Amino acid sequence: MKKVVVFSQIDREVLAKLQQNYQVVVLNPKLGDINEQIRNEVVDADAMIGAGRLLNESNLAPAQKLKIISTVSVGYDNYDVNYLNQKKIWLANTPHVLTETTADLAFSLLLSAARKIPQLDAWTKQGEWKRTVSTEQFGVDVFGKTLGIIGLGHIGAAIARRGFHGFNMNILYHNRREKIEIAQAFNAEYRELDQLLQQSDFVVVAVDLNAESKALMGAEQFNLMQKHAVFINIARGSVVDENALIEALQQQKIFAAGLDVYAKEPLQTSPLFELENVVTAPHIGSATAETRQKMVNLAYQNLVDALEDRTPRYLVNPQF
Ligand code: NAP
Repeated sequence: MKKVVVFSQIDREVLAKLQQNYQVVVLNPKLGDINEQIRNEVVDADAMIGAGRLLNESNLAPAQKLKIISTVSVGYDNYDVNYLNQKKIWLANTPHVLTETTADLAFSLLLSAARKIPQLDAWTKQGEWKRTVSTEQFGVDVFGKTLGIIGLGHIGAAIARRGFHGFNMNILYHNRREKIEIAQAFNAEYRELDQLLQQSDFVVVAVDLNAESKALMGAEQFNLMQKHAVFINIARGSVVDENALIEALQQQKIFAAGLDVYAKEPLQTSPLFELENVVTAPHIGSATAETRQKMVNLAYQNLVDALEDRTPRYLVNPQF
């Protein structure tokens, strides 16, 4: 019987389906060092499924016949793809099914940060609403403003669509290559990064994390943003120099930020928690019941396809 290692919590029904056909080992961080568990279990494993763990030579080296790692995510920066290629291990991911949900979250953060919703929610519930609000509670307008999107991929385009059709926004984008056809749908204009930062009222980061996008936003870039601008990151924490962002927020070089992702997750303590002008979400871009179900179903299908000698639909490294 083929062996499947489950390396994070997954949906119970999917787990039950796996258990019907395969020998399944579910790793559990409560039972000790997770990397040691991976090293022990991967030796004779045929497949792995899960999300949120760093998988690379340090824990995958003992694998003898691992055919596929099926990640329940679209981002795959947790996996050392070069090493997987060397070992001829497929990496499958779950694109498309989470695009709209993640774009919704980006817009939720954008609106919340612009209108100070979390702060004013707390303020109201604390009984501070004794008279009409004053300038301190005022936000900034969203409708008709300029939205700058860094990374016009699937999610970036879904964010642009919301901004263009829903909020009559003027769309600018920066991408490592121009996306003329996609951009046409939203009258989006290409800008170099510096120009985009200088001209946008809202800047949303939606790139994947790679060697070029790491620390794409640092002190120099935050200095280019307008004082009333709002910065949103739904991509990956490491795309941003978090200390530089904290300094920009502390010194009110920008109006506010809305963040779903961080340099180190889960975020337990941070100077961000002391700041009024940041909205923090715990990496929930795709976290709706419907979308998580679609993602785990897709990851299951990718895994089963590989084990049944079919080519999975969504491979990060189809050619190794
Ligand atoms: P995608 O379709 O691959 O889009 C990524 C875009 O970023 C592509 O257009 C890519 O350009 C561009 N890009 C990459 N590096 C760049 C750089 N250095 N400078 C400028 N543009 C660059 O991926 P997606 O499905 O939209 O997802 C994007 C990322 O969002 C994922 O990789 C993941 O990390 C993150 N994400 C987060 C959550 C969450 O829960 N917060 C949920 C889903 C996804 P090319 O066209 O040249 O490739």
